[in-house]
Amino acid sequence: MTADNTQNHQSIERLLQAGTRRLEEAGVESPRREARLLLQHALGLSAEQMLARSARESVPASLFLSWLERRARHEPFAYITGSKGFWSLDLAVSGASLVPRADTETLVECVLEHCPDQTRALSVLDLGTGSGCLLLAVLAEYPAAWGIGIDINPKAAALARSNAERSGLAGRAAMLAGEWTQALAGHARFDVVVSNPPYIPTQDLDTLMPEVREHEPVAALDGGADGLDAYRVLCQCLPSLLAPGGIGVFEIGIGQETALRDLARQAGLNVVAVQPDLGGIPRAVVLRAADA
Ligand code: GLN
Repeated sequence: MTADNTQNHQSIERLLQAGTRRLEEAGVESPRREARLLLQHALGLSAEQMLARSARESVPASLFLSWLERRARHEPFAYITGSKGFWSLDLAVSGASLVPRADTETLVECVLEHCPDQTRALSVLDLGTGSGCLLLAVLAEYPAAWGIGIDINPKAAALARSNAERSGLAGRAAMLAGEWTQALAGHARFDVVVSNPPYIPTQDLDTLMPEVREHEPVAALDGGADGLDAYRVLCQCLPSLLAPGGIGVFEIGIGQETALRDLARQAGLNVVAVQPDLGGIPRAVVLRAADA
């Protein structure tokens, strides 16, 4: 007997009804949509295949029901299914790093805008690489580029490495665990330095959605008392990390533009652009050395 035969089978209709009710009770937004997506992934179907199924069809229920309980406890959808789309890539995710966010794609757009020659053999550094999403998305756009991703958490560096392999980019990406600047021993310079650092002020962590607050790694979120700790380090080390003409592109949180501009000025950096995300919030800051 296969594992499938021992499983509880139920109709799609019934599972969607039960799933929607459970997620609604748990206060998950868009419960019907999420129940449907969870069932689609649990059955291993594409969106089109799911649409083609009859609501009365009987399908294996056990995996869906266990995923449903995890989602009802506000575990992020991507941690449950194990993957998340970012830019052109499908990346593995785990509790070792943040789930890649659509807002962060704003940084990739900035790199493309400020380095329009996509044939260049750009050198790229990603500080706090997490899943590797930023470095890998940039490398995917510049076929001759290479880069280094660094994360303080060795599990994140390992995840980023497996994503480099999964994306066919491992030959051009090195993922290292360590302190941002120490891992490089201060010797290398880069055409592009990207970072989505932790930037939530410590006292605001409690106000985040339960998906983020209770499930994502606090080290990737907590930016210290004013949320700016990481930018102090980043702005200070950026001038010595940039190759001549190089750019830094950093993600910022809501309301952090003015403070970032001050830190940049003090470090001898010019803010050459601030790009809003799809919600209109200033999200990506592009910097150059003032003397470049
Ligand atoms: N944008 C993320 C959030 O609010 C925070 C990411 C970060 O601190 N880098 O969930």
